[in-house]
Formats: sequence, C-alpha cells, structure tokens
Amino acid sequence: MGRTKLSFNIEDLFSGEIRQDEPMSGHTSLRIGGPADLMLFPEDPVSLKNLFIAARREDIPVCFLGGGTNMLVTDRGIRGMVISLRAFGNIDITRDSDSEKAVLYIGAGVLMAQLHGFAKKNGLSGIEGLAGIPGTVGGAAVMNAGSFGTEIKDVIESVGVMDMDGDIKRYKADELDFGYRSSGLQKDVIVLDLRVVLQKDEPDRVGGRMREFIARKRASQPIGEASCGCVFKNPHGDAAGRLIEAAGCKGMKSGNIEVSNLHANYFINRGGGQCSEFVELMNAVSLKVKENSGIELEPEVRILGEAA
Ligand SMILES: Cc1cc2nc3c(=O)[nH]c(=O)nc-3n(C[C@H](O)[C@H](O)[C@H](O)COP(=O)(O)OP(=O)(O)OC[C@H]3O[C@@H](n4cnc5c(N)ncnc54)[C@H](O)[C@@H]3O)c2cc1C
Repeated sequence: MGRTKLSFNIEDLFSGEIRQDEPMSGHTSLRIGGPADLMLFPEDPVSLKNLFIAARREDIPVCFLGGGTNMLVTDRGIRGMVISLRAFGNIDITRDSDSEKAVLYIGAGVLMAQLHGFAKKNGLSGIEGLAGIPGTVGGAAVMNAGSFGTEIKDVIESVGVMDMDGDIKRYKADELDFGYRSSGLQKDVIVLDLRVVLQKDEPDRVGGRMREFIARKRASQPIGEASCGCVFKNPHGDAAGRLIEAAGCKGMKSGNIEVSNLHANYFINRGGGQCSEFVELMNAVSLKVKENSGIELEPEVRILGEAA
C-alpha cells in the first residue's frame, strides 16, 4: 500500500470501498496523477469519523477529492488517504412550505449535473448559470464555483461539515467567507452537505435557460476535452484567458499539454500528459503574461500530491 502503513485493520472501523495504490489519473478530469496510497469511499458519517480519528492517531495525512475537475495531482501521487464522499449522494426537498421557494438538502457527493437534472425536473430556479460546471456539489461549495454571473454561494443557505475530530457543525452561508473561487471551507473540514434555496418556476423555463447557458459554454470553452477548467483566476477587472491570448500563448505546448485554441485559460491534456508538463506550461504562460502585461496570474487549479 504505497508508503502509508497502517497498524490497524481499516475494515474494522469503516463501511465503504477501499482502494490501494489507486491511480489518480482515473479520478481527475485532466487524466493526470500518480497513485494515492489509499483511496476511501466512506458510506456514512460514522465511518468518516472513525477514519479521521485513526488518521490522526497514526499521523496519516488526509485530503479530499470531489469530482477531481479542479485538480492537478502530481506524478508521484498522494501519500496518505484520499477521501471521496461520492456515497453521500442524496437530494431531498426539505422545506417546501411557501409557494415561491424550496429548500433542498444536497449530499456533498451529488454531481452538479444531477442537481441540475433535479432542479429542471422539479421546476426550481437559481442555478441555471452554473449548468455545465462539472464535479460535485461539495467541490463547488469549496471553490465557490460560478459562471455567467451566478456563484453557488448565491443559493447556499448553510453547509454541514465534519471537522478532523469527527464533530459535525453547520455554518450559515454568511459565516463561510465566500469569495471569487474561494471559501472559508479549508483543509481542516470536509463538506458533508449543502442546504440550498431555489425559487419555484416552470420546469420548461428552467430547462430552457439551462440549455442556453450550456450552449454558450460549449461555444466558448473546450468542455469535452481533458482539462481542469480555468487554470488561472481572472485578475481584478480583466480575464486571464484574454491576457494569455494577448501574450501569444494560444497553442503553446509542453509535452502533451497544450493551451487551448478555443479558450486560452484552458490547458488540454492531449493524452498521456504529466503533471510536470502541466506545471512547466503554467510557469511558461505566467512568465509570458507577466512580460506582456505586468500582471501576475494566480492559479485557480488546486495542486495536490507529493512534489517531484
Ligand atoms: C470542462 C470544465 C469546465 C469548468 N467550468 C467551470 C466554471 O464555469 N466555473 C467554475 O467555477 N469552475 C469550473 N470548472 C472547475 C471545476 O469544475 C469547479 O471548480 C468544481 O466546482 C470543482 O468541483 P469538484 O467536485 O470536481 O472538486 P475537486 O476538483 O475534486 O476539488 C476542488 C477542491 O475542493 C476540495 N473538496 C472537494 N470536495 C470536498 C468536500 N466534500 N469537502 C471538502 N473539500 C472538498 C478538494 O480537496 C479541492 O481542494 C470547470 C472544470 C472543467 C473540467
């Protein structure tokens, strides 16, 4: 099991799937990443709590993965445990008392696409602008995912989390310090669920708006290719894609990683690309943008794993 050695039998304290030496390239939209020593898919909060307590006792590093759609994992992979809450996959309408609003409970492992399907079917409006963003609801909350003027924080009422002692807490949205592609939900808590408030509307109208936003996304972003979405955050008052294009970086390559010709803030893995190539391209592009515009780009993609 990689380099992480356990002095206990993990099956004794845990329900859910356990994978050892699991290639992270199979769990990231970039298709990049070496093996994680242990990848765990707890099925309930008690199993998750037991994992946290055992990891602390054994001094094993723990990290979290949603859909892996904003993630660059190093070629050496991840030492310790990677935890996925894909089994936390329920969506329920918890309060539907007034004629205008509904409050949803959404497990952290629910895919954004599933949430959009649910909202469309039930005629619930407020997240149409986020249609087409891949990954999970938990990852979206951590990243405060957004597009076309909507951010997930706009509809969040509260977020349920577990801390590393296994204690469950619920935070209101205004306690979570949401910013542009950032939140106060950091490495020391795992997101268990979201409560989201949506407005009632006609299913056809909700579906129509989602289709419109997806069509706009498809026209401007290479969403069918292996990428992590935008590599860099937009600097204040400008767009990273515009700056990268203006610096002449469209089509630039490092090994099998290439700056997209459709949207310059997307880097595409053309097949077999490595994290080292991706980082090399990030550095080369940042340097060119700095030379051309004086602006220092800040990564949006999160890098995880053992450095080379
Ligand atoms: C084609 C494409 C298009 C995209 N378009 C957009 C866009 O329009 N707007 C946008 O904002 N983003 C976009 N993205 C980026 C990405 O989809 C979002 O950031 C998404 O919200 C990440 O969710 P995820 O579940 O994949 O998170 P991951 O990439 O798995 O993780 C992201 C971060 O959240 C943490 N995390 C994940 N789940 C949990 C949890 N349950 N508890 C605690 N921490 C957790 C991880 O440790 C990591 O730090 C795009 C990506 C792709 C590939």
